[in-house]
Amino acid sequence: MARSYVHEARRRVGRRRERIRPIVERLALEHPDAVIALRFRDPVELLISVMLSAQTTDVMVNRVTERLFVKYRRPEDFLTVPLEQLEADIRPTGTFRQKARNLRGAMKMLVEDYGGEVPERLEELVRLPGVGRKTANVVAAERGATQGIVVDTHVRRLSQRLGLTRQEDPAKIERDLMRVVPRADWARFPHLLIWHGRRVCMARRPRCEDCVLSDLCPASRVSTVPLTAAPQAK
Ligand code: SF4
Repeated sequence: MARSYVHEARRRVGRRRERIRPIVERLALEHPDAVIALRFRDPVELLISVMLSAQTTDVMVNRVTERLFVKYRRPEDFLTVPLEQLEADIRPTGTFRQKARNLRGAMKMLVEDYGGEVPERLEELVRLPGVGRKTANVVAAERGATQGIVVDTHVRRLSQRLGLTRQEDPAKIERDLMRVVPRADWARFPHLLIWHGRRVCMARRPRCEDCVLSDLCPASRVSTVPLTAAPQAK
């Protein structure tokens, strides 16, 4: 039964290549404020903020970095304080021991290999301790050097519901999205999905009846398609 629902939903919404432009345009109108919520003044602060944002909220990171960036002004400053002090300074962001070690390692590499600057290429960013592809993509995109599409929990969930991918692995989801999303939209697309995921398409109770994508979404509950039926990519 579920298969026929999925088939009907796919037929109803049409091919993903034809849907992607209205999806982006409608989300851009719906969420004109969809930008990164982290506060930073330069690429080093951006990198540090994104590294601290794992497993916590942007609000919490901003609260911590407001003081942190007064005390630690250059990458070298992270190397001269005792590790325990750095741990205490970032403690409210959670997993602070690991984050402190990674921050130290990343700042050390910036100083030793990149003259204290944050590199732009993804291949170089992911060399930094504690920096995975998601963090690297966020940093690159915010610097105007977009090379991929950020896949976080919201992007993953919404891409699946919208039938843009049937993958589970973030790297494979990113590959699917890079094939269908116009390159000019790679930077803003994840922000649009993240804000839509927070405000409308929540994990447990998506508000399909208020969603501007309802007629473009194979998982919409406004149609007769149940959310339990996994949407299929085309
Ligand atoms: S129609 Fe429902 S499931 Fe689809 S994107 Fe909108 S809120 Fe999410």
